[in-house]
Amino acid sequence: MEDNGTMQGWVKGLESWIWIDFSVSVFMLGLFFYIFIHNPITRLHKAYLVFHFFMLLWPLSQFLLQTTTIVQYQLLFRSISYAGLSLQGLGWLVFVCFLTGRSYLLTRLTLALLAGPTALLAALVLAEPRQFFLLSGDGAGAVQRFGPLSWALLAQLMLMAGLSIACILSALRAGTTLRHRKQVGMALKGLLLFLLFGWLDLLVNVVYDSRFPDISGISSVGLALTALYFCVSIDRYRVFDIVRIAQQDIADSMSAGLLVLDAEGTVLEANRSLQRYLSVQSGDRFDLGAFLRSQKRSSGETAAELGRAGEAVAEPILQELVLSASDLPGAPLLHVQVHASPIVSGERELLGRVVTFQDVSEIRQLVEEKHRQNEMLQLRNRELVQIQEELFRANLKLEEMATTDSLTGCYNRRFLMQRLEQEVVANVRYRIPFAIILFDIDHFKGINDRHGHLVGDEVLLETATAVKGMLRRSDVLARYGGEEFAVYLPHTTRLQAERLAERLKIGVEANRVATGRPGLTLSITISLGVLSVENESPLGIKDPKAYLRELFEEADAALYEAKGNGRNCMVGRRRA
Ligand code: GH3
Ligand code: MG
Ligand code: MG
Repeated sequence: MEDNGTMQGWVKGLESWIWIDFSVSVFMLGLFFYIFIHNPITRLHKAYLVFHFFMLLWPLSQFLLQTTTIVQYQLLFRSISYAGLSLQGLGWLVFVCFLTGRSYLLTRLTLALLAGPTALLAALVLAEPRQFFLLSGDGAGAVQRFGPLSWALLAQLMLMAGLSIACILSALRAGTTLRHRKQVGMALKGLLLFLLFGWLDLLVNVVYDSRFPDISGISSVGLALTALYFCVSIDRYRVFDIVRIAQQDIADSMSAGLLVLDAEGTVLEANRSLQRYLSVQSGDRFDLGAFLRSQKRSSGETAAELGRAGEAVAEPILQELVLSASDLPGAPLLHVQVHASPIVSGERELLGRVVTFQDVSEIRQLVEEKHRQNEMLQLRNRELVQIQEELFRANLKLEEMATTDSLTGCYNRRFLMQRLEQEVVANVRYRIPFAIILFDIDHFKGINDRHGHLVGDEVLLETATAVKGMLRRSDVLARYGGEEFAVYLPHTTRLQAERLAERLKIGVEANRVATGRPGLTLSITISLGVLSVENESPLGIKDPKAYLRELFEEADAALYEAKGNGRNCMVGRRRA
């Protein structure tokens, strides 16, 4: 800048301005290390440190510029300081995006669009300082006119500042926590301070250059204040970052895939696990409805209806999809439960969606396996029940075969003996009267001889049936020998037993048995021996088996007597 003669005295010893730039450089270097050491290095801090480095370039190169009298070096340092300034504009915007949680806006495309022209500008500033940037007169360090490039630089700085301020204002309007608003507010103050000092520098040292002495370091002081505000902003309200880090950690350590979308379908958050199911990044566009429609549901239907419904209204969506674990053919299928919950404002306006992807393949497999096992068990069970029923029927049959006589259908001798062995002793002990009838078909051999064995068999069956029809349910009829039968009559007195024997004799005689020859029927007779037991002393019974044998011998004797008496008669005996 050209010296103003009238102010010569006032600006005596101006070399001391150099120390402002130097002090600011040292101060900013200190801040750089403070932030580096004092903070967990998040993406926000990384962004800030890069930005801080760009800010540092200005005071440092301004200071170095004043330490040399070599024109080339002066021009170089000046170029570096202005190049740093152009990078700083980009730094503001990137830092503000991170600070306000809008880093998703920094997609590759937007970053390229922002960084490309900035880098070009910085490169031009460094490469062509004389032609475009600084129109220096005779090469003296102090003399400078600003060329068209510097106005481009100014415009770029203003554009970046404008975008940064817009970003901050929109974050403030979106209204997150008070702490975050204060943090963002501090950054805004820092940015405004820089703009204030920058313009002041421009006015004092460029626009009204002729009226003021060359006061270097105004922008440096502004920068120092900006850096201070920014540092306080990220340092004092550090909790916000910790919460962010914690949230990120939690999101990344979740086994479920997490996807946060805004109302327009821009991906705001996509955790690590999500990459198993979808390859989306923060900032990408993702059409949830189209995705759900394009996938196969577990039930085999398409997800069309639900996907459409989820698009139109702020309703939660829950679907189980079948996704392929990879694009390779034959890759295992994953059963994934997709749960999309809407994020709604107080006015029921849809702000976005939180979508979780949960792999339920294992549960599904277990359920299917259980189902299969259940079906198999049921089948086995049915088979077992069938076998059991068959066994039961076979057992019944066996029991029947073991206890009944196959020809006549009445009990066999073995069954009768087994039953009576216990029962008669108990009867005697409790003085319960009972009787045994033994009867034998008369001249049966003659029937066999005359009419054949088949008719003989028929006679046996008919006689047993006729006798059975005349007995009580509690009485037991058994085939005792060839054509000899025994009847056990529980709770029966002698009188009752002998009356019954008479009835049996008459009943059998009255029963006509067919011979197979037309018109010829047989009438047969029986002889009966009846033994009644009433009030017998139990003391005499030592062995039930022997006692039973005794009883039957007596009944047999009565029968023998009846035969002797001329047959078709009854002989009664009584034990007392
Ligand atoms: P009684 O009046 O003295 O009893 O003379 P009976 O001929 O009836 O007596 P006997 O003991 O002499 O003959 C019995 C016959 O019964 C001999 C045998 O062949 C016949 N018999 C035994 N069991 C059966 C059978 O199951 N079926 C047939 N058809 N005959 C049988
Ligand atoms: Mg006989
Ligand atoms: Mg006989």
